Amino acid sequence: MNKKKIAFQTFGCKLNFAETSAIARKFTDADYEMVDFKDHANFYVIHSCTVTAQAEKKTRAAIRQAKRKNPEAAVAVIGCYSQLRPEELKSQQGVEIVLGNSDKYDLLSHIESLGTGKESATSATARPVSYEPGFSMGDRTRTFFKVQDGCDYFCTFCAIPFARGRSRSATVAETLEVAAKISATEVKEIILTGVNIGDFGRQNNETFLQLLQGLDQLNGIERIRISSVEPELLNDEIIRLVAESKKFMPHFHIPLQSGTDRILELMKRKYKRGVFKQRVDFIKQLMPDACIAADVITGFPGETEEDFAQTFDFIQSLPISYLHVFTYSKRPGTKAAIMAGQLPDTVKQHRSRLLHQLSDEKKNIFYNENRGTIRQVLWESDIENGFMHGFTDNYIRCKKPHDLNSVNQIESVTLLEHDTDGTYTISIAR
Ligand code: SF4
Repeated sequence: MNKKKIAFQTFGCKLNFAETSAIARKFTDADYEMVDFKDHANFYVIHSCTVTAQAEKKTRAAIRQAKRKNPEAAVAVIGCYSQLRPEELKSQQGVEIVLGNSDKYDLLSHIESLGTGKESATSATARPVSYEPGFSMGDRTRTFFKVQDGCDYFCTFCAIPFARGRSRSATVAETLEVAAKISATEVKEIILTGVNIGDFGRQNNETFLQLLQGLDQLNGIERIRISSVEPELLNDEIIRLVAESKKFMPHFHIPLQSGTDRILELMKRKYKRGVFKQRVDFIKQLMPDACIAADVITGFPGETEEDFAQTFDFIQSLPISYLHVFTYSKRPGTKAAIMAGQLPDTVKQHRSRLLHQLSDEKKNIFYNENRGTIRQVLWESDIENGFMHGFTDNYIRCKKPHDLNSVNQIESVTLLEHDTDGTYTISIAR
């Protein structure tokens, strides 16, 4: 008998990717065949994101794409968009199942009951409260490991706390048990993910630092990266641990959002820009080669030319390696959506372009500083025009002619020249 075919499309954060893998595993265990989203399938699952209006648009486009590929297929939309506005998605033609962030783990039973006369589409009105661990297993070299979910901060621009519920995590011991399972696979690198991972453990009277100390002792995993940590939670102990550890990579991702205290206050962020600067300076003092990425939102309501110039100058003055630039968009239900001083799209887009240019300059400087140095690259399995790719410990993308024996191997390389796409060609250090 032919297997039922299912395809997943994931948008948004790494957490969504880790969770998609956990959900998809339930289907492969139940003998479904996983196919590419571009291919013909019986079921299409879209793991949605609501962080920007653009992210929601992509979800709606994916629904249309699925229906074009197979008009007979059942489409399920799960995740943050489904959690916040299920009715909007249910009204889209061809969508049969809409599940929020708690119910999405029951997707298999919802799909299995399609056509049995049971209610198939489920609204997602209850705020998610349960905690489900998960880790992605797409490329066998690296995994996104979910260690935390939800957020208690309620920054004024952000709908995530409504979509994902309060901050929560498993205990250190439970999380280390899942990490031990990952370490028994061939995966070489773990990327710790969550909504607000620095808040890990608070409800269990534990700390993120304790989790990192436990992970540092774990055998079998060679590299660990920490994804985005709020500046006020990225304390000196965590930075010191990364500097002293052989497992933790010198790679940080810190949300700045704005370089002015006035806008940070309006955003209800929990730090002033001075705290951000102290963190960046301390990282560079202990790890001069560290890669530091920063998130920044441009065009927040009330952001004046002067505020923007201050943000720009502040970022320019700091040894940040590159930026993730987000153009502000109103998220329904958030405080910022009804604030005075909403900016025209043209202004927001102009500022966004300037910050993208600044990011390119920063990346160029960082890459040039690293030219000629010897770094450790973990080679991945993808092939592109005959080349394979991998990242150094400090997150510089490298390429070399494809060699199957190198996949999932860590190799010492010398960084020679980088292309305009920001990829280094290398020579192998023997
Ligand atoms: S810290 Fe702020 S921006 Fe980040 S998820 Fe929580 S509310 Fe959203």
